[in-house]
Amino acid sequence: MEKIKMTTPLVEMDGDEMTRILWADIKELLILPFVELKTEYYDLGLPHRDETGDQVTIDSANATKKYGVAVKCATITPNAQRMTEYKLHEMWKSPNGTIRAMLDGTVFRAPILVSGVKPTVRTWQMPITIARHAYGDVYRNVEIDVPGAGKAELVFTGEDGQEIRQTIFDFKGPGILQGVHNLDASIASFAHACFQYALSVKQDLWFSTKDTISKTYDHTFKDIFQEIYDSTYKAQFEAAGITYFYTLIDDAVARVVRSKGGFIWACKNYDGDVMSDMVATAFGSLAMMTSVLVSPDGKFEYEAAHGTVTRHYYRYLKGEETSTNPVATIFAWSGALRKRGELDQLPELMAFADKLEKATLDVIESGVMTKDLALLWEGNECKAVNSRAFLEAIADKMQS
Ligand code: NAP
Ligand code: MG
Repeated sequence: MEKIKMTTPLVEMDGDEMTRILWADIKELLILPFVELKTEYYDLGLPHRDETGDQVTIDSANATKKYGVAVKCATITPNAQRMTEYKLHEMWKSPNGTIRAMLDGTVFRAPILVSGVKPTVRTWQMPITIARHAYGDVYRNVEIDVPGAGKAELVFTGEDGQEIRQTIFDFKGPGILQGVHNLDASIASFAHACFQYALSVKQDLWFSTKDTISKTYDHTFKDIFQEIYDSTYKAQFEAAGITYFYTLIDDAVARVVRSKGGFIWACKNYDGDVMSDMVATAFGSLAMMTSVLVSPDGKFEYEAAHGTVTRHYYRYLKGEETSTNPVATIFAWSGALRKRGELDQLPELMAFADKLEKATLDVIESGVMTKDLALLWEGNECKAVNSRAFLEAIADKMQS
């Protein structure tokens, strides 16, 4: 069998723990036998990030800017426990945070649906895509542990010397403080990414914030979205038969739960973080959630929404059998290969991505799946297998 050729390399970002194991297996069993794979490889595994002083993360983001399409494995975001476990020189920042900030991207997360796993929310019939703003707010915060009585102020000093000052609080005793920011330009990029994505998938776009309480901060998000919608996208939305709809975050939550699905829900950074886990879990499994970072100038980074599945990795290290679900990571690869095919006009590569996804879903529908799905399965008889056996079943399907 002749392998499918590629013209431009994919930016490949390897990662950590259980997903790093799955990464190598997916390549070996599902990609390399069929595609003459061209990648520019960056090892974002924590040991190598530490060796390079996290330069490798920056290099991989720059490569994504250069080539346009990346596929990323889940990576550890270090905390105190990881400092000792990996003997780190520094508590490196989240690679995803670094990459998102460098690409000024918006993250779109959508569940992969299979017939035997019924959403917890009975009314949901179609996927709900969460669009998460990927810059600023609490992820770029400055915090103070207030030691005792004193006055906290918010001060802005303009380059022209102008000063804006407000009292935050007169502390009578110890407390805590947090400063957050965002940028009009980043909010505008977020809005453009959402409107364009909605048009490309022909789905309604919802947006929600807490503008009634946050009358300047959140209200600015609402205003920028509305201005951009009215000036640039209204006519296109009407022509496509889709709508843009703004509502308060609490109202949005209630409406989402009563909906049939099939729309994009744009959220601020923190809301998107939390709501995407809620939506993923309610659709069945975090292991079935895909994630793509889209920059306003059209660069794409595909990954699974879940982490490195540490608990399974520790069992794997002890030699125990693990059944970790590779589906979202497979879809990260298929998404990236399809996008590469689209940009380079390689219809065979695009068709391969479709086949890989179909083979994956067919194997599950035939009743062969990892343990997490077997526990949720309500279809015909099913068999829980380990990760390797599941990937081999997909490879067999691809060969035939
Ligand atoms: P996690 O890796 O997503 O895993 C949490 C739990 O969810 C697992 O223990 C497992 O539950 C279940 N799960 C997640 N993915 C699964 C899969 N593919 N197949 C089967 N079960 C799956 O989250 P975490 O344990 O909070 O974080 C672990 C590490 O990942 C952390 O170091 C964190 O920094 C990192 N992380 C990275 C990313 C990223 O790179 N995008 C995102 C989130 C977290 P059971 O144990 O009950 O089977
Ligand atoms: Mg999260």
